[in-house]
Amino acid sequence: MTMPDHTPDHTHDPNARSWVGEANEHPDFPVQNLPLGVFAPAGSEDWRGGVAIGDRLVCLRGAAPLLQGRAADAARLADAGSLNALFAQGNEMADALREGLFALLTEAANAGEAERVLFPADECRMAVPFQVGDYTDFYTGIEHAKNVGALFRPDNPLLPNYKYVPIGYHGRASSIRASGAELIRPHGQIRSAEGKPPHVKPSERLDYEMEMAIWTSGSNPLGQPISIGEAGRHIAGLSILNDWSARDLQAWEYQPLGPFLAKNFLSTVSPWLVTSTALAPFRTAQPARPQGDPKPLDYLWDDADQQAGAYSVEMEVLIETAAMRKAGIAPHRLSKGPMTAMYWTAAQLVTHHTVNGCNLQPGDLLGTGTLSGPDAASFGSLLELSNGGKNPLSLTGGETRTFLEDGDEIIMRAHARADGARSIGFGECRGRVRG
Ligand code: MN
Repeated sequence: MTMPDHTPDHTHDPNARSWVGEANEHPDFPVQNLPLGVFAPAGSEDWRGGVAIGDRLVCLRGAAPLLQGRAADAARLADAGSLNALFAQGNEMADALREGLFALLTEAANAGEAERVLFPADECRMAVPFQVGDYTDFYTGIEHAKNVGALFRPDNPLLPNYKYVPIGYHGRASSIRASGAELIRPHGQIRSAEGKPPHVKPSERLDYEMEMAIWTSGSNPLGQPISIGEAGRHIAGLSILNDWSARDLQAWEYQPLGPFLAKNFLSTVSPWLVTSTALAPFRTAQPARPQGDPKPLDYLWDDADQQAGAYSVEMEVLIETAAMRKAGIAPHRLSKGPMTAMYWTAAQLVTHHTVNGCNLQPGDLLGTGTLSGPDAASFGSLLELSNGGKNPLSLTGGETRTFLEDGDEIIMRAHARADGARSIGFGECRGRVRG
């Protein structure tokens, strides 16, 4: 057993206040968060490292001369158009940067100089925070697995390997985009009525999946697994992930090798990396498995990970249709649920991914899989909410939906909350469908 490296420190003090005034009341980005991202100022292609504070961004290029020692070095590493170089060092340099920025943004004497390196967030564009080498999507939401399994295989919803193997598939990195990227409705092969060949047409069962993104830190040499005790050090932090899915393409293609074109036309992430260190106060015990479920195999078991390997993060999904936008109706909430719906911890995913010697690299993206709770109010996809398209949902304003229509915008949000801690948020993960 390895000691957990997620003890809160002075940078998590709920009473800490920034001289960036609005940050102290901000729902997502108070000084206790300091998430990392990559941004370009308005009208520019000059992508650079940034940190969110309230409604503003700290430009790390500008901030580096105001920081000292390793914090200054880390700010320069983060100014490479992606966060890969920073997290190639593991989490230590990012932690030094967090310490330095916390001091810079809380000590009023710094305000004069540091004010000059702040940008208004709404005048900047955000990129995917890492140059993603590889993307793996897991399937840790057991309620989702049961719900979807029941639609595809009513007699056999959960396959016998599920409780032993953290199930996953290799996704596609080239089509990962930051929040705000347009979703162009995909075409593909769709099954026809009995006896007729399939035809190619735009998907009529376009869906989202509410997931969290786990970003990796450091690396392991090919052939050398990461033990469960070490796995936490390989987690840079989390973002929100929308794994857009075309259910009609999926139903026709998914056997025998799993998802392919039903998933790789776009995946959207929220642009801020909320670091493992920022999430320290929100670590919580992995929920006990239901009676009768097998204990994970030894290589996936670590007492410290079981005690604090889950996250107190609440996620929500909203929809805004074109008609709602036109009428000025506020987005309609589709679901709300906890990240503790994961059957496996993030550390278990890292360890399982490398048990065969597979090498992870800094900035690999691991999706949790759709996180649904046990009841409909927390279902993380329209496939589940509409019961496979059989029960249309009623939206504020009188429209109904089974799957997404052109002009629909999906908005995902997430917040980490715990007693005695200042809550922090992930920003938004948005995408609008274009026909
Ligand atoms: Mn998925």
